[in-house]
Amino acid sequence: MKAFACPVCRSLVFFENDRCFTCDTELGYSRADAALVAVDRSGLTRCANRVVALCNWLTDPDRNGGLCDCCALTRTRPADDDPAGLAAFALTEAAKRRLVYQLDHLGLPTTPRTEDPDRGLAFDLLSSENEPVTTGHADGVITIDMAEGDDPHREALRIKLAEPYRTLLGHLRHEIGHWYWYVLIEGTPYLDRFRDLFGDEREDYAEALQKHYAKDPDETGWEGTHVSNYAASHPWEDWAETFAHYLHIRDTSETAAAWGLHTDGPDLDLSLSWDAQLDVDPVEEPDSFDELARSWIALKMVLNQLNRSMGSDDLYPFTLTPVVLDKLRFAHVVISSYRPDAAT
Ligand SMILES: [Zn+2]
Ligand SMILES: [Zn+2]
Ligand SMILES: [Zn+2]
Repeated sequence: MKAFACPVCRSLVFFENDRCFTCDTELGYSRADAALVAVDRSGLTRCANRVVALCNWLTDPDRNGGLCDCCALTRTRPADDDPAGLAAFALTEAAKRRLVYQLDHLGLPTTPRTEDPDRGLAFDLLSSENEPVTTGHADGVITIDMAEGDDPHREALRIKLAEPYRTLLGHLRHEIGHWYWYVLIEGTPYLDRFRDLFGDEREDYAEALQKHYAKDPDETGWEGTHVSNYAASHPWEDWAETFAHYLHIRDTSETAAAWGLHTDGPDLDLSLSWDAQLDVDPVEEPDSFDELARSWIALKMVLNQLNRSMGSDDLYPFTLTPVVLDKLRFAHVVISSYRPDAAT
């Protein structure tokens, strides 16, 4: 994410701010400007979720019943008389704003279900403290178990599932990755290359998952070919994991660059191999991925070492093998090449 500046005094402000700590100007995020703007000069009003979800985005008051575009994507949320639910809701919406900011930045669509009732996006933000909830995606509807906003609960799950990393933002990036499979790959010339890299997604999903969970993680044999153990369960999960990692890598690399952190790193020969014969001309050349990957591998080493210096776990506890890098490169190409008029 880029670094933001107050539009009035040019002091540093953050994506989450609703005022400038230097000049006290009331600020809000304008999606059209991708910037924090002075509320009273914007012609916009604060999102109706300002109090309930601590939303600092602005909106046209005539749109979405006073909700900003990001909050309006949420179809189900806790009731006003559920304080614990509302606290989790605020955490989840904060992660979702970061997600939507990045999707906008990458030029990806976020078509709401109100515009496309069959395949548009909607979020059901539920809590397994009240009812059984499975985080997942189905035809544009993303369900998030907000109980995972609670650190001890999420950490217990992470340990139980033997995962090195588990966050709300990671869940959001993964689940929306399933939706982008429809948008970016299904019915496009990229589908054959997808199947070469990730496998045939027509494989029975429920059966594949059942088989995956029956295996000991140490026996899955995913290292080397998949970014995580879960990615090895089915080609769709491999794609969603890869998509999420691509967003992690892009966002963190851009944040580092915005703050002037440059890493040349050790001299690495990644031997990247892109041999796909695509039937379409990607707007962005696959080669531009090499630069991103090289600087990321150096950067993640630095970030991991910094965390170790603080006695914390590695920031990015994943190994990017040549096969995984090829999958990430595929994500880079399909995302960079997306143009709305080419959508199916
Ligand atoms: Zn200011
Ligand atoms: Zn909002
Ligand atoms: Zn998934």
